Amino acid sequence: MKDEKTLYIVVPCYKEEAVLPETAKRLKKKLQALLEKGKISDKSRVMFVNDGSKDRTWEIISQLHEEEPQVFSGVNLARNRGHQNALLAGLMTAVNHADMVISMDADLQDDVDAVDAMVEAYHKGYDVVYGVRSSRKTDTFFKRFTAEGFYKLMKALGVDIVFNHADYRLMSKRALEGLAEFGEVNLFLRGIVPQIGYPWTTVEYERHERFAGESKYPLKKMLAFAFDGITSFSIKPMRLILLLGVVVFAVSILMLLYALISKLSGSTTAGWTSMMGSIWLIGGIQLLSLGVIGEYIGKIYSETKRRPRFIIERVLNKTE
Ligand code: UDP
Ligand code: MG
Repeated sequence: MKDEKTLYIVVPCYKEEAVLPETAKRLKKKLQALLEKGKISDKSRVMFVNDGSKDRTWEIISQLHEEEPQVFSGVNLARNRGHQNALLAGLMTAVNHADMVISMDADLQDDVDAVDAMVEAYHKGYDVVYGVRSSRKTDTFFKRFTAEGFYKLMKALGVDIVFNHADYRLMSKRALEGLAEFGEVNLFLRGIVPQIGYPWTTVEYERHERFAGESKYPLKKMLAFAFDGITSFSIKPMRLILLLGVVVFAVSILMLLYALISKLSGSTTAGWTSMMGSIWLIGGIQLLSLGVIGEYIGKIYSETKRRPRFIIERVLNKTE
């Protein structure tokens, strides 16, 4: 066998019995086409991760593996842990066998044909290839509006993410080993991956509609996911409290002056000056203190995540 690279396609599945047979067929075809072109080795696999589905999902995966173990692999989680955790479980299993891993949704919303371009980019030396949606034509206005607003908000908060990229991406073995260094429990993969580093590029694709079954991301889950992303990567919301504290404190000094002047010019009722003064001053001091405490909590927060401080790409060193 030549120096061929092994590709694993990792697909998290939650209650996907309606789409799995078709997805398996399409991915198998894609794998075989790449194999024939000599782009990947015959050890390449499609790895389905069952995220604790209660329907026939795991049954279908086991059957696929039984019939064609040289094409399909399966990982079964002990219970439902959510898309991000299921995906990580698959990636961390696949990294032991693969040179590159592509993550993809089970519902074929991500265009399978973008895989070729991703593998091509890998061979050109890129470690991370982000699938980026070229348009959101198939989304409802609401989904498009909220999703794009989310990416803009993340950018404004200083979080480094790739615009319009979901979790459709290729990662090389060493990029995955970098990912493994991140020990955080609140997973927001599309925020973590850019932090790993290494050469990266993007591949555009058209996102289709889910061809069967229902979205497992209702509005409630989507909002929770977005909130998770922001709070896991930005302490700016907390810094805003400090800023507000500074502003209110400054205003309180002005109010105090105003109240005193009003009193001296004799145009106030008794008690007004002290009331006004203390309300503003105490409010300002409280917000300021909260902000200072927030800064420390922010520090503690980033310390507890124990993110890797660096990942070395290569060392040039001759010792003799
Ligand atoms: N998924 C999962 N665990 C969950 C929810 C979803 O593994 O708890 C998988 C699901 O099977 C699919 C992918 O995550 O492969 C994306 O989910 P979905 O297509 O429902 O989300 P949408 O595309 O609507 O955002
Ligand atoms: Mg989907």
